[in-house]
Amino acid sequence: MRLGRTIKAQLRFYSLLLILLPLALSLAAFYGVLRTEGLRKAQGEMQAELRHHRFDVERWLGYRLADVVHVSRTDAVRAVDIPAMKRDFHAFLDAHGDFRSLVYVDAAGRTVLDLDMPEGGVDLSDREYFLRARQGQPFISRVLTGRTSGKAIVIFSSPVLNPQGDFAGLVFGAVRIDALLEMVSSLRRTPVDPSFLVDAASGVPLLAPENTPSIPLPSRDAPIDGPTVYRNRDGDEVLGVGLPLKNGEWLLVQERAVADILGDMHRQLLLLLAVSGLTIAALTPFLLRLAQRVTGPIERISAMSERIMAGEYGSVCPGLDAAGMPPELERLYRNFCRMAERIGTHVGELERLTGTDELTGLANRRLLADAGARIVSICRRAGQPCACLMLDLDHFKHINDVHGHATGDEVLRRLAAAIASTVRSSDFAVRMGGEEFAIIAPNTDAPHAMALAERLRRTVERIDLRQAGMPVPVAISVGVAGMTVTPRYGAGPLEDLLAGADHALYRAKQAGRNRVMLWDDADHGVVAEQDAPDGEGRPEGAPRLRGPLSGS
Ligand code: GH3
Ligand code: MG
Ligand code: MG
Repeated sequence: MRLGRTIKAQLRFYSLLLILLPLALSLAAFYGVLRTEGLRKAQGEMQAELRHHRFDVERWLGYRLADVVHVSRTDAVRAVDIPAMKRDFHAFLDAHGDFRSLVYVDAAGRTVLDLDMPEGGVDLSDREYFLRARQGQPFISRVLTGRTSGKAIVIFSSPVLNPQGDFAGLVFGAVRIDALLEMVSSLRRTPVDPSFLVDAASGVPLLAPENTPSIPLPSRDAPIDGPTVYRNRDGDEVLGVGLPLKNGEWLLVQERAVADILGDMHRQLLLLLAVSGLTIAALTPFLLRLAQRVTGPIERISAMSERIMAGEYGSVCPGLDAAGMPPELERLYRNFCRMAERIGTHVGELERLTGTDELTGLANRRLLADAGARIVSICRRAGQPCACLMLDLDHFKHINDVHGHATGDEVLRRLAAAIASTVRSSDFAVRMGGEEFAIIAPNTDAPHAMALAERLRRTVERIDLRQAGMPVPVAISVGVAGMTVTPRYGAGPLEDLLAGADHALYRAKQAGRNRVMLWDDADHGVVAEQDAPDGEGRPEGAPRLRGPLSGS
């Protein structure tokens, strides 16, 4: 799995890792410790139990041996009184069901009395029990195969001493091993945990079928120091404990299934796992919410930065919803919003400044191309009239020369104020440059535009400005043009309108200034004037186009 590179993905991944990894490791360690402890405890219990069982088994063996020793010391045996022995042996076998046979062997190792083989004379002088008897020792053999029955047997033997105390042979009884094994398995604590006997040398259970695998018991030589766990013949995992028996020849073994021993622990661990899982499941939504609390604002700020890149400053921080954010991110978010707002304000200011004439506050010629063309096209689409007024201060150079440049500037400001207070809000007034102004008046036909121009001329005439006690005479000439049907002089209707008004202005100047003249498109000339003091006629000639609109 490739880890996502986003903060959200990494935050989620590492948080889950932080929860799951320590949990898994501690559970594993916990399991290891509990398992070892559980097995050790079970082993202790089994060893204690086995010691009891070993006592039972050794007592059983001891009783059998004592029985044979008792027979070997009867007067009939010591005196080799065969008929009496026969009688006694029969009585013994009747009374002791575990014994299959009872035999008397003479000092030379030959059978003298064997109820199964009446003819006798079998040489047993090489048998271990004979050699032991000659040394005066009672003896219990390992598991042997019976001569007559072919069954597995154990022989209990005891030396016979004649009345003079000399070695006179031995008595041995054969016990079917089944009897021993039955006794051992009857010692089982529960039906599932039987004890059994193992040959200590080979590790193979006594009387097991051939090819039975040996049991890996370390206690054959040394005592068990750790729990011995292995797979039994059924393939189950078991804990095995063995105790040596009969001088270490046999082992008494008990096995218990590991699943039984650790069952409780497994259930507890499962419960722990379930509780942990539920806790994690319950906490995960909080974790995801935390990730969301961190990454949500970052994503929003990132989206905001993209909108700023696209030039949308105003809509960047709608409502500034910083509630629920971590304080660090809230500060980042708030500062970012303030920065965006500040940038927006500055950019707006810059935009306004580039479209505004600094001295008069009116729009400048840069805006005329866009705003003027928009007004004219709206008028054309709506089928409404549209007019243009072109204004120029009369003898302004003279004012500058006589009263100073500052007074000239003041005159320009007063004129702009007069224009702004006279036109409608839908009219567009612009300082074309120097002491020349234009007004684009939508929804205004030529007569109304003339009336407006005249009103303006009168207003300007009344401007009361004094410089060092001397009155400063202020007057304007105005050229007016109505919208033409087809473009004639410029690239479009706006340029036509401006050119017409400009031409009318030129005529007004020519006619003596401080007057208003109308450009008649149909007649290609100035047809009307208002308040022309000297009543000059209509001059001929093409309009004068001065400079591109986009120029300064
Ligand atoms: P006319 O009646 O023919 O228009 O004569 P006029 O003197 O007004 O015209 P002219 O073009 O000869 O002179 C315009 C003067 O306006 C020249 C220039 O110094 C002055 N001017 C242009 N811009 C400004 C300005 O921003 N402030 C001031 N104080 N004077 C300006
Ligand atoms: Mg001029
Ligand atoms: Mg002038």
